[in-house]
Amino acid sequence: MSSTRTLLFLEDDKDLQSLVCTFLREKGYRVEPARTAAEAEAVLSRVPVDAAIVDGLLPGMTGADFIRELRKTHPDLPILFASAFWKDLKSHELLTRQLRVARIIHKPYKPEELLVWVAQLFASVTPPPPPPEALEEAAAPVDDLAASLAALNAEYGSKLREKISGLEALLGRVRAGDKEALEEAYTVVHKLHGTAGSYGFVEVSSAAGRLELVLKPAREGGALDLAAMDVAFREVAAKASVPVKPAPMSAAKAASPVPSEGVLLVVDGDAAVLTEAERLGRAHVVRVLTARTADEACAVARKQWVDGVLIHMHLGGTLGGITAAHALRGEEGLGLLPLAFTGASGALEDRVAAAHAGGSLFLPRPFTAQDFTAAAERMVAARRPERARVLVVDDDPEAIAALTNALASDSIEVVGLGDAHGLMEALSEHRPDLLLLDVQMPGPSGFDLCRILRSTPEWQELPVLLITAHVGLEFRLAAFQAGADDYLSKPVLREELRARVQARLERSRLSKERAERDALTGLLLRRPFVDGVRARLAESQRLGKPLAVGFLDVDHFKQVNDKYGHLAGDRVLTRLGRLLGARFRREDVRGRWGGEEFVVALLGETAESAKEILSRTAAELSGMTFDGDAGESFRITFSAGISVSPADGASVEELLKAADARLYRAKANGRNRIET
Ligand code: GH3
Ligand code: MG
Ligand code: MG
Repeated sequence: MSSTRTLLFLEDDKDLQSLVCTFLREKGYRVEPARTAAEAEAVLSRVPVDAAIVDGLLPGMTGADFIRELRKTHPDLPILFASAFWKDLKSHELLTRQLRVARIIHKPYKPEELLVWVAQLFASVTPPPPPPEALEEAAAPVDDLAASLAALNAEYGSKLREKISGLEALLGRVRAGDKEALEEAYTVVHKLHGTAGSYGFVEVSSAAGRLELVLKPAREGGALDLAAMDVAFREVAAKASVPVKPAPMSAAKAASPVPSEGVLLVVDGDAAVLTEAERLGRAHVVRVLTARTADEACAVARKQWVDGVLIHMHLGGTLGGITAAHALRGEEGLGLLPLAFTGASGALEDRVAAAHAGGSLFLPRPFTAQDFTAAAERMVAARRPERARVLVVDDDPEAIAALTNALASDSIEVVGLGDAHGLMEALSEHRPDLLLLDVQMPGPSGFDLCRILRSTPEWQELPVLLITAHVGLEFRLAAFQAGADDYLSKPVLREELRARVQARLERSRLSKERAERDALTGLLLRRPFVDGVRARLAESQRLGKPLAVGFLDVDHFKQVNDKYGHLAGDRVLTRLGRLLGARFRREDVRGRWGGEEFVVALLGETAESAKEILSRTAAELSGMTFDGDAGESFRITFSAGISVSPADGASVEELLKAADARLYRAKANGRNRIET
């Protein structure tokens, strides 16, 4: 093997050509420039070349056409394809599969980036097929994280011993001058370097990294330092024979205050009911906490995690449970606490009061075991946030298993994908909240995939973390140029990975939240409101229940601004928004339509019950006094119109239109009233 490689560089832009030629020559390559296909053919007939770099668009023809011709005479020549336009997986497939382009580079590129890919051309090896059992591990649900961690580590540990003996045999052949064995050994070592650390064998990773450095020059045609190879190998073997340490407990789980079983707080003045609830809890694996008064209930909820609260409607007096519910929801961080009420009767008045106060369920007393556990389950499901989904794309199943293992927890679900070509399908199927991409894969690289996502409107905002064995500046630059949000180098350390992923997930959750909510009132903006109602409408149709939509508009609000000042007007909007946010059930959708107009959608309510519920809001609002900018005090009212599906329409638009028409009627009929 000659140590100087000859590159054909076909590029019609003169400036780019001279920059890249200078750079590559400085790095020890022989570069033959060509500006047209004819010039390139002249080069090829004159000198043998080791690889070609071809621009996507040439004078009078496309780079792909040129490559198609070139393949007739040079079927195996490694080719890098540089393109400013390529954006999709289809053309990637055409280029890489049919035309066998080794790598697509995106313009504008930096010469440093190109150099990395050129060097890779001469170093690339095909990874062996993945062992099928490793994939099964990756897909297995992580029930007990610590146990599964330990099991996976032990599994890798035992495979590690096999890998080391296999490697020893390969190195024996390398010593005898076997070039193929050198390639194979390098692949094994490279993977050990990249993956062993993720399974807790950090020292094996670093020792393998040193062995990789020893083997590298030989693969590129240089001499092999056999003594150094032996030393490095012995080190790898020694580190690999250290027994597996018990895996550390997942930090996320250990630190989490969220217990794995459901926790239900039962608030009732009747000791017999509390005892019965505790008994039902034990029988149905729900942890039941009890309180006899509103104050006790608040004290419990302040101190420990509670998934939901079951409150006696008439706790310590008529509708005392409603006051307790308001107090609980008023506690910091409990604004959306799921609530259920129990009462002696199913009187409409009780049910309406319960729904307004945020009760998702009403259990008539005495409740059955079935009612009780159904209520507990529903509240637990509502309270526990949906797990964030992370999609991991890596051609090495062991790497997928390691990353899954490091990340999967109560709050994160991990899905693995072994073939980058399936990315778009996997995205629409799993709708991940974050993507972890291996940079080096056969087919499209992590950089390629990242660029595709950044040019696909639907996935432009998806947080992407790239993972690569390379740590050089040029790689980091390329990662950010490709549009990655963050960057991790192999071996990936569990704690670092977890911290970075969690930080990204949290940030994107917050920015989504900010983008969906109105700052003044904390309620949903118009579009997310409509999306939410659409989902509720589908649910109501599935369940055969009605859905009530209410349109609210503050009365004479212009006068509030004029008389008491714009800031006072803002305070009115904030208080009304907060009131709408704090009352109602979790599943009810509430939004600020714009200006002093608000909208609500109540699942399972009829026109009558919805009117009763909104009347309670009206009563609460009219009991509030507001301060004018000059210290005056004033009160306000609102008018509302209500429509109900299916009677008033089967689409969100029809329902809103009908409710708006009735709101107009409420105004015409004298304001401070609700029309159905
Ligand atoms: P009506 O009883 O018929 O609803 O009378 P109104 O005065 O409430 O009706 P109109 O829709 O004409 O007035 C709405 C006013 O709300 C006009 C606008 O200046 C004011 N407004 C809209 N957005 C805001 C806001 O964010 N803050 C404040 N302070 N005022 C706002
Ligand atoms: Mg108004
Ligand atoms: Mg208005």
